[in-house]
Amino acid sequence: MTVPDVSRETPGWTPIAEEAERAARVLHPDRYRMPRPSHRRIMTVANQKGGVGKTTSTVNLAAALSMHGIRVLVIDLDPQGNTSTALGVEHRLGTPSVYEALLGEISLVEAAVPSTASPDLLCVPATIDLAGAEIELVSMVARENRLKQALSPDVLDQLNVDYVFIDCPPSLGLLTVNALVAAQEVLIPIQCEYYALEGLGQLLNNIDLVRSHLNTALHVSTILLTMYDGRTKLADQVTNEVRSHFGPTVLRTVIPRSVKVSEAPGYSQTVLAYDPGSRGAMSYVDAAREIADRGVTMAVPAGR
Ligand code: ATP
Ligand code: MG
Repeated sequence: MTVPDVSRETPGWTPIAEEAERAARVLHPDRYRMPRPSHRRIMTVANQKGGVGKTTSTVNLAAALSMHGIRVLVIDLDPQGNTSTALGVEHRLGTPSVYEALLGEISLVEAAVPSTASPDLLCVPATIDLAGAEIELVSMVARENRLKQALSPDVLDQLNVDYVFIDCPPSLGLLTVNALVAAQEVLIPIQCEYYALEGLGQLLNNIDLVRSHLNTALHVSTILLTMYDGRTKLADQVTNEVRSHFGPTVLRTVIPRSVKVSEAPGYSQTVLAYDPGSRGAMSYVDAAREIADRGVTMAVPAGR
């Protein structure tokens, strides 16, 4: 299977040399450190369509950045708790979690724990309590700003992180709105399959609404194509359509469909830990490097 857009193709290199280089970047992360961003980046990973790779991308991008010398905080904002599971973080009922932080009962510093993926990758878990938050938040003061308040610059300084990824549930409810208000950037994973763009208009409308009323800094900075299957023409059609629509916002790296990627969470691992030499792992490292490279020259958002 060919992955169409490798982020770092080097002119004159054979495909095997390219592949060896990519594998080395996963296996020897110390030699291939990624650059720190010009400012702290808070990215919400959103798409109200279910199963498009939000959680998989959050977990593996965060793991790739942290393995290469960058400190990252991941916030699991989905009551399913899949992000917490994949990062090997406890999320049984009673565990200090994002739910208590949204209620203002605890600081995110108390809820953030190092993941098994890397000591530089912190995770704020979601417990099943979060399932009720969507309704409980409705009657609360500043209901859309709860996560933003919890993610204060002071808290992020204490946690000493350069990147924050917020993994959203598959809905456009109050939890996702909280994530959009708390971030400067939106990362949208799009699955390379039929109906991929369905519902995207609604997501973009919501982002526009949040930008005009609640968070002027918000913009869609990154689109990541996921679960690319090179055997199908459809995958290429979707890829081309997304690229022609969104231009350079779309990362050059495409994440291939890979059994290893889907198996890893079953072992409470990222694919980088589960099978570092796999195509899935290498692609997530490539994508993370693109994100990191973009972050170096990015203008500091207004109002921050
Ligand atoms: P939800 O909307 O339920 O939160 P999601 O958008 O977070 O879903 P994931 O949970 O990341 O999506 O992925 C959905 C399923 O697809 C999972 O079983 C995951 O393991 C699998 N998956 C994700 N990416 C890949 C990939 N590149 N190759 C194969 N399987 C994948
Ligand atoms: Mg998910």
